[in-house]
Parts: sequence; structure tokens; C-alpha cells
Amino acid sequence: MEYGKIYVTGLGPGAADQMTVQARNVLEKCPVIIGYTVYIDLIRADYPDKEFLSTPMRKEADRCRMAFEEAAKGRDVAMVCSGDAGIYGMAGLICEIGKDYPEIGIEIIPGITAASGGAAVLGAPLMHDFAVISLSDLLTPWEKIAQRLRATAEADFVICLYNPSSRKRADYLAKACGMILESRAPETVCGIVRNIGRDGERCEILTLEKLKDTQVDMFTTVFIGNSNTMELNGRMVTPRGYKDV
Ligand code: SAH
Repeated sequence: MEYGKIYVTGLGPGAADQMTVQARNVLEKCPVIIGYTVYIDLIRADYPDKEFLSTPMRKEADRCRMAFEEAAKGRDVAMVCSGDAGIYGMAGLICEIGKDYPEIGIEIIPGITAASGGAAVLGAPLMHDFAVISLSDLLTPWEKIAQRLRATAEADFVICLYNPSSRKRADYLAKACGMILESRAPETVCGIVRNIGRDGERCEILTLEKLKDTQVDMFTTVFIGNSNTMELNGRMVTPRGYKDV
């Protein structure tokens, strides 16, 4: 019997037309689709004939083993994540757990990540060097996150924050802004985008000082401009550096 293969697939931020053709082809060909319930629910109606398997959040390793067990039965499996599979997605864990299943093939299918999806909603905030930092301290110690926030703020990167908040971490964005304000001006141009590519998509441009006092949720991506970032006609724009515009 031939083994199935695991396709770790980024679905994009939400909108059906923001999914790549490659990801769509994978979903069509795989009889089994595995993922966190929220993402499965986004695609379930489009694929009534598939077998959907899921585990709750925080049971990521179980979900990966489930994928390898299905593939070992000879079935191709799509392991789905939002955005890009390799950016705070499941690609890394699948590769790590895959060392116990050397006979099973793995392929990573990239997707539009929240940084590029959200940037397009705001304007052009990522036109110069930028850093992506997750504020979730479930898997990373807060000291490490703080160190990276301070270092990138100091180096004048545009900063894109994933996982900016949750019920247990309601004050993390305020704490992060406080650290960034140690080396960046209070009037630094920032942007927040909620529900990128989904119903209720909403964005706002505001100063770093104001961002510090703003509540966001886990469906939001936050952008902090560099010292040259501007608001132009309602858009957040970081100049690339072209002269004579
Ligand atoms: N693999 C995903 C990221 C998962 S981490 C990707 O590449 O986009 C989860 C965080 O991503 C969320 O807390 C939020 O900050 C961001 N995010 C993912 N999808 C989003 C969306 N549709 N709208 C706004 N933020 C989103």
C-alpha cells in the first residue's frame, strides 16, 4: 500500500479569493482535511464530501499526529492553517513530528499572511524593512518578546504584531507600546486591521501614543510605522526611499 502525503496548507486571511490556486487544488484532491475548528468552519460548506478532523486549540501536536496516522492509512491529508502555513502556522510542528514518520511525504503550501493582507488594507506600510513579532507568550517567554520589541524599535524597523491580545493578555499591547515608546516618537504612525478578508473587516490609522490606549482582540494585526511612515489621504504609507516624488 502506498502512503498518503501531508500538505500543510495556508488558506490566506479569510476571503475565498485570497486563497491561492495551489491551496484550492490541494483541498480538492485531499479526502481528509485537518485543522483548528475556526479554520475548518471557514471552508466546510465548500467541501461537503470531505472528512473533516479537528482538535481544540493548544492540541496542536495531537492534530499533527492525527495527520500522520491518516497518511499512514494511504490517504492524502490537507493540514490547514490561516494565512501562511509557515508563519506561526503548523508547518514547523509537522516537520518536527515528521521525524518519527520518515516514510510520509510532507509538502508546504504557502498562503497570504496577515501582514501582507493587512498591509494592503491599510495602504503600503511594509515598503521598507520590517519585523514580525507575536505577542503570544504561550510558547515564547515574555522576556524574549520584550527584548525583540526593544531591539526592533531601536533599529527603526516597521513592526508588525501578531497575536496582539487575548482575554488573558488584555494589557500586552499597551505593554509592548510602552517599550517601543522608549525609543520611538509618540506620533509614530500606526495601523490596526481586524478581520482581514473576512466579514466585518475594519481598519484604523492612529498614533503610537493612541495605540497604547487602544483595546484590540486576537483577530487583529497591528502595524507600527518607522520614523518615516506617514498618513497620506487615509492610507498608512512607509516611503521606499524613491527620490523626487
Ligand atoms: N498563520 C497565520 C498567523 C497565525 S497567528 C498567518 O500567516 O496569517 C494568529 C494571529 O494572526 C492573529 O492573532 C492575528 O494577529 C493574525 N491574523 C490572522 N488572520 C487574521 C485576519 N484575518 N485578520 C486579522 N488578523 C489576523
